[in-house]
Amino acid sequence: MATTATSKAGTMRVAQISKSGGEFEIVERRIPNAGAGQVRIKVQACGICRSDVLTKDGLWPGIEYPRVPGHEVVGTVDEVGAGVTAWNPGQRVGVGWHGGHDGTCLSCRRGDFRNCRNLQVPGISYDGGYQQYMLGPVEALVAVPESLNSVDAAPLLCAGITTYNSLRHSGAFPGDLVAVQGIGGLGHLGIQFANKFGYQVAAVGRGSSNEALAKKLGAHAYIDSGAADPAKELQRLGGAQAILATAPSGKAMSALIDGLAPNGKLIVIGASFDAIEVTPLQLIVGTRSIEGWAAGTPADTEDTLRFSELTGVRPMIETYPLEKADEAYARMLSGEAQFRVVLTM
Ligand SMILES: [Zn+2]
Ligand SMILES: [Zn+2]
Repeated sequence: MATTATSKAGTMRVAQISKSGGEFEIVERRIPNAGAGQVRIKVQACGICRSDVLTKDGLWPGIEYPRVPGHEVVGTVDEVGAGVTAWNPGQRVGVGWHGGHDGTCLSCRRGDFRNCRNLQVPGISYDGGYQQYMLGPVEALVAVPESLNSVDAAPLLCAGITTYNSLRHSGAFPGDLVAVQGIGGLGHLGIQFANKFGYQVAAVGRGSSNEALAKKLGAHAYIDSGAADPAKELQRLGGAQAILATAPSGKAMSALIDGLAPNGKLIVIGASFDAIEVTPLQLIVGTRSIEGWAAGTPADTEDTLRFSELTGVRPMIETYPLEKADEAYARMLSGEAQFRVVLTM
């Protein structure tokens, strides 16, 4: 039987998109009840991710509107649905990009939940975190450590886990040269994680304005890709065992490939639609590879949060109230935010 911590008979405010390419609308909705296998989350904070453009502009096939975006959600469990035993009202939880899996497809049967054929993404498959209350399936829930506040934890649920999880699977060992391309929402976390993993960190940015910040975040070297050939600079430092490519530009990523050390890997996490250009010989000589990476499972996210708690890695954020979702989203898109934009409820 469902148990209800607090009976909510009222309504809530949500920021929804009612059609592909539509503007944000703040509307009142009835607070939903948790169904079987779900919890209701009283949302405290939700990060705005560049991928929210998929919902805003209808770039993901099959989105049903109106839709509430948001996949960097932190709040407290407010109600648990039938069959939910592992989570309790009052517990602080998060929901990130991995918003649920079917448990039955071939990938799931192989234990590869990240590549579930029917992967659900909050804000795309169902209403996400730009609202005061959200329903989430239990398999998507993440426990949030006590010492992390909700606005700091939110960006770690997508930007954080993506940089942390891809770097820890990069094959680079402590002491290896690892480059982080792009000093933005993803990159400013990638630099911190790379430093805490014990890598020699080279940050690659455009212009000199981010150099001081990149070094403060933990970069040992800064390469201005506008002033020098970044691949040559990386080779001058010995060649990168891994390059975490965060800036959404296939062209900028292409310029880095020759900076890889033998057996080095370009890890692609900055999503864009333009091509990465590489010749077969660039990959063959030196046995180099290019790999795409998407987030991870909720257990990976808990690792991210615990590691951040342990080492002091934190996102730099700007917060906006839910009512200003349109302004906050525009701020994120502008690229001017330092560095993640977070909505508070
Ligand atoms: Zn995201
Ligand atoms: Zn599956």
